[in-house]
Amino acid sequence: MALIVQKYGGTSVGSIERIEIVAQHIKETKEKGNKIVAIVSAMAGETDKLINLAKKLSKRPTEREMDLLLSSGERISSALVAIKLNELGVKAVAMTGRQCGIVTDDVHTKARIKTINAKDIMEYIEDDYVVIVAGFQGIGENSGDVTTLGRGGSDTTAVAIAAALKADVCEIYTDVDGIYTADPRIVKNARKLDKISYSEMMELASLGAKVLQIRSVEFGMKYNVPIMVLSSFTFNKGTLVAKEDKDMEKILVSGVAQDKNQARLKINNVKDEPGIAAKIFNTIAENNINVDVIVQNVSDDGRFTDISFTVTKDEADKAYDLLNRLSKEIDAGEVSINRDVAKVSIVGVGMRSHPGVAAKMFDALAKEGVNIRAISTSEIKVSCIIDEKYTELAVRTLHEAFELDKE
Ligand code: ADP
Ligand code: ASP
Ligand code: MG
Repeated sequence: MALIVQKYGGTSVGSIERIEIVAQHIKETKEKGNKIVAIVSAMAGETDKLINLAKKLSKRPTEREMDLLLSSGERISSALVAIKLNELGVKAVAMTGRQCGIVTDDVHTKARIKTINAKDIMEYIEDDYVVIVAGFQGIGENSGDVTTLGRGGSDTTAVAIAAALKADVCEIYTDVDGIYTADPRIVKNARKLDKISYSEMMELASLGAKVLQIRSVEFGMKYNVPIMVLSSFTFNKGTLVAKEDKDMEKILVSGVAQDKNQARLKINNVKDEPGIAAKIFNTIAENNINVDVIVQNVSDDGRFTDISFTVTKDEADKAYDLLNRLSKEIDAGEVSINRDVAKVSIVGVGMRSHPGVAAKMFDALAKEGVNIRAISTSEIKVSCIIDEKYTELAVRTLHEAFELDKE
């Protein structure tokens, strides 16, 4: 008998028929003698629909109200799954983030989970209930308001609950049957991986492979939760995300990721003095905007620099307004914005011990005429900012250059 946490994504609960299939699968897993907590996302398309409704009323809807609005999507699907389970004769309760004791910081629309008081979930499980949790939400630690965890946040709810309950495994059911060497929607011959390390998955997730939300992998790594990614359409064996082992190091590149949710901002003629970059990036950080690839070019006479960086597209307007204000304050030049950029990246723990990986990547992109606008590297990844229209070409090119279709 095991304690299993399952998470069903939007497509997995996207219709009444899908909800029936999910409820049946939970029932069967329970009948094998397991205890089950299942986290559900909103039905496919629901979150986008709610965002669009709000955008019809306001260009920049208040974030507190957005959280209240968006959290309702997951409440609906959790209640429906629990209703079906009860209908099937399985005792089930649906619970919101608040009812599950999920406390977050107070940052609306991308809150981070701070603590989980799983007492009430535990009591239900002990009473032989299946608990169905509305994913993607919590309660602000000071405000007491509903918060949401950022797009794809139900993954994080699931892994965090698995960690809090010390579950045996966290199964993430989605519309693909595992983690692939690239997004299978873009690369037709992408290969399914049997396992991948937490650190590689964390990079892939942060670089745009939205199959798992990055925070969920962080929780998995920190609390050592085995995460299995698998399909709710086939229920075949999926990909295990776990601790790094010797086999993994042999592989140079494990995967390619792309992220079109990027915009590039540039501020010209910034005085090349200590403290100026700190002022710019402190202001951006104080406004809770995450900055990604940063490039600084110093002019020939060394007196001025241009600073450019990328942010997500949805934060670009906010960052642009801030930079314009800052530019006046620090007596800098023009601020420009380019929304037509994307990031392509290669990831692999083997890079640590194999030189020349970056050069091979730049070479492959150059051969296809893809211009690189900025570069960023870490121990186990190389990322390039390119024009958005070349994204798919770049991903396929890199997949081929590193022969990722072959084992
Ligand atoms: P869910 O609604 O179940 O949370 P998501 O749409 O968030 O599902 O994530 C699953 C999708 O992630 C897949 O349909 C796939 O297109 C995409 N994806 C991107 N990169 C990868 C990858 N390397 N391996 C598998 N899927 C990937
Ligand atoms: N419903 C939210 C989203 O679409 C959270 C999730 O699905 O994990 O981003
Ligand atoms: Mg998702």
